[in-house]
Amino acid sequence: MAQPRFRVGILGATGAVGQKFVELLADHPWFEISVLAASDRSAGKPYREAANWIGSRPIPPQVAEKEVVPISTELDCDFVFSGLSADVAGEIEGQLAEAGYPVISNARNYRMREDVPLLIPEINPEHTALIERQPWRAKGGFIVTNPNCSTVGLVCALYPLVRAFGVEQVHVTTLQALSGAGYPGVPSLDATANVIPFIGGEEEKMATEPRKILGQLVDGRIEPATIRISAQCNRVPVLEGHLECISVKLARPASVDEVREVLRTFRSPIAELGLPTAPAQLLHVFDEPHFPQPRRHAELGRGMTVSVGRIRPCEVFDVKFVALVHNTIRGAAGGAVLNAELLVRQGYLKPRRSPVVAEA
Ligand code: NAP
Repeated sequence: MAQPRFRVGILGATGAVGQKFVELLADHPWFEISVLAASDRSAGKPYREAANWIGSRPIPPQVAEKEVVPISTELDCDFVFSGLSADVAGEIEGQLAEAGYPVISNARNYRMREDVPLLIPEINPEHTALIERQPWRAKGGFIVTNPNCSTVGLVCALYPLVRAFGVEQVHVTTLQALSGAGYPGVPSLDATANVIPFIGGEEEKMATEPRKILGQLVDGRIEPATIRISAQCNRVPVLEGHLECISVKLARPASVDEVREVLRTFRSPIAELGLPTAPAQLLHVFDEPHFPQPRRHAELGRGMTVSVGRIRPCEVFDVKFVALVHNTIRGAAGGAVLNAELLVRQGYLKPRRSPVVAEA
C-alpha cells in the first residue's frame, strides 16, 4: 500500500533532543524535515550556526543551511515533534494543538493530563483512543507524549513481568547520563569525576508515569495500575544511556529462570505493523555478569532496544536486575518518532496538504 509522506516540524530543534530528531529524521522513509524551530536566540540563523551540534556524525547536509524559524501557529508542516524545554512547552504545545497541529511531545507538561496518551507503542498502543477526548481534536490538533527517559527503561523492562506474573512493588536506583540534562546541561565542575545524587522531579515522574502507562483503558479513561514504585535518581559522568538497578516484588511467585525466560522471549506486539523505527527486539537480555554497560550497549537496536542483565534473586523483594535505555533515542526522540509512526498506522496522523507518496 502506498504510504503518504509527511512534512514535519521540529520544535526546539537546536537542543539535545531536537538534534536527535534531526539525526533520526534525516533519512526517514515517511517523514521529511520541513521546519526547524527554536527560540528567538536561534531564529533567523542557519541551523549549523544556531545548533551547537553535539552529535558524533556531521549535521545532515540537507538541514545544515536551513534557516531556523521562530515558533508560530503558521508552520509549514503536517505535524510537529517537540523537544522544547518544559518551561515553555506547556504554552507553545497547547497553542499549536489549538491551531490544528498534531503535537508529538517529549516534554513533561501534558504527560499526566487525563486525555493525553503517555505512549510506548509496544506497551499501550490502545491509549491513543484518548485523543478523541481532547478539546483540540475538532480542529485537527492533538497532543501525544512520551514518558520521561528513565521511566521508559523501567516500564519496558517491567512490562513482560507485569503480564506474566503481576508486579506489586518496585525499587529502582538510576545512574543517568549527562545528555539527559540537555545542552549545556550540568556544569563541568559538577559533572567531572563525580556523582550528583539529585535530579529535580525525576523520582516523582518515575513513581507516577508507569501507573498511567501500565493502566487499563476503560470507557475511554485510564484506570492507573496499582504498582508502587520508589525511585532514587543519580547523575553520573556518562554521555548517553541511563542504567537502572531494579528490584521487583511480583504478585505471583516465579523463579529467576522463569523471569529470565519471560524477558528473553518477549515479542513486540506491534512487530507486524512495519514501523520503520521499531526495533526487532524491544528487550535484549545479557547473561554476562558485567553487562549491560552504557558505552557499549546504549546503541543496541539503533538505540531503541532496552537491555537487561544481572537477573538474580532479591533478598528483600523477589528478583532484581539491571536495565539500560538510550535516553535521547528510546527515551526521547526515537520514542517520539515511533509514536508518530504508530499514529500514522492508526490513522490519527494524516497529511494536511496534498501528499507526496512514498513506497510502503
Ligand atoms: P535543551 O537541550 O535545553 O533544548 C531546549 C530546546 O528548547 C532548544 O532548542 C531551545 O532553543 C528551545 N527553547 C527554549 N526556550 C524556548 C522558547 N522560549 N521558544 C522556543 N524554543 C525555546 O533540552 P533537551 O534536553 O533537548 O530537552 C528537551 C525536552 O525534552 C525537555 O522538555 C526535556 O525534559 C525532554 N526530555 C529530554 C530528554 C533527554 O535525554 N535530554 C529525555 C526525555 C525528555 P534555543 O537553542 O534557541 O534556546
